[in-house]
Amino acid sequence: MEFQTATCKPTILTGDRATGPLHLGHYVGSLAQRVDLQQKYEQTILVADMQGLTDNAHNSKKVSSNILNVVADYLAVGIDPEKTTICLQSQLPALAELTMYYANLVTISRLERNPTVKAEIQSKGFERSLPAGFLTYPISQAADITGFNASLVPVGDDQLPMLEQTNEIVRKINSLAGRSVLNECSPLLSKAPRLPSTDGKSKMSKSLGNAINLGASEKEISKAVKSMYTDENHLKVEDPGKVEGNIVFTYLDAFHPDHEYVQSLKAHYQRGGLGDGTTKKILEECLQEMLRPIRLKRMEYLDDKAQLIDLLKRGSEVSREKTNRVLREVKGVFGLNIF
Ligand code: ATP
Ligand code: MG
Repeated sequence: MEFQTATCKPTILTGDRATGPLHLGHYVGSLAQRVDLQQKYEQTILVADMQGLTDNAHNSKKVSSNILNVVADYLAVGIDPEKTTICLQSQLPALAELTMYYANLVTISRLERNPTVKAEIQSKGFERSLPAGFLTYPISQAADITGFNASLVPVGDDQLPMLEQTNEIVRKINSLAGRSVLNECSPLLSKAPRLPSTDGKSKMSKSLGNAINLGASEKEISKAVKSMYTDENHLKVEDPGKVEGNIVFTYLDAFHPDHEYVQSLKAHYQRGGLGDGTTKKILEECLQEMLRPIRLKRMEYLDDKAQLIDLLKRGSEVSREKTNRVLREVKGVFGLNIF
């Protein structure tokens, strides 16, 4: 997919809920791409604190205390604040206003059909106590994306339904305006758009407490790898084993730099003669090596919180101007720009 044109740099908007430190799923699903993309594109990353409140309003400390953790994670993996604008959602009132305008264009039944939100509502056990903010967060996410008039969004595959809803809103606004006011956006999926948890039962996720964080200690990494689901029928080393659904191989595919070596390990495992202890050891070494420098940098950044706050503040100021401009356009579509 090539979006670059000679005249204009396409805009990327992406973000993360401030519901916990970032993990390997974020890294392989979106962060690594953002590090590459910042060279060529105009990129903004939004720390979604307001979206984090949609299921944590009664435990807001979980959100407020993780804002700087998320920023430190960005910097530790190589997001360069000179190339990428990092901003805080709650500092951009235009996004909340856009959400209110868009809410009139979306039906409740459409919101209830969003498969990701549907699954999240079920796993969180909301039933009748479902917060209106949670059901409607895809609208607020549409406001985030269109607020920057973004055309490209690097995300994991759980976000595809959100992008679909965003584009529906974009088409409605453009049709009401009778001209193109907002851009439709395209997802940019990585080679591992849904990294499973170590038990293989669900997506690795901050809220499910099943993650290997980017700042995980050596011990935590080791424990997580040792507990990984492999092939339950692979009882003896000489037995042929299955690599599909074997989380150790899923992670080796996602993180090991030597693709051919991983292919040869898979063939050996399938023939028999390669034990789970060995494959886990190879994976552990690979993750320890990858995460060590990230952990150290992350700790250094967190040692200077004032610098992180300053960076967020500056990024939010720039973003406030951008999002105000889009808000003005959208208000104009409804004839509400009379002064
Ligand atoms: P929460 O449990 O609070 O929803 P999360 O772990 O799902 O947190 P988000 O902040 O919702 O993380 O997601 C931020 C970005 O990271 C999104 O683009 C999402 O698709 C991507 N992402 C999250 N988890 C994974 C994963 N396991 N594999 C690939 N991408 C992921
Ligand atoms: Mg999520």
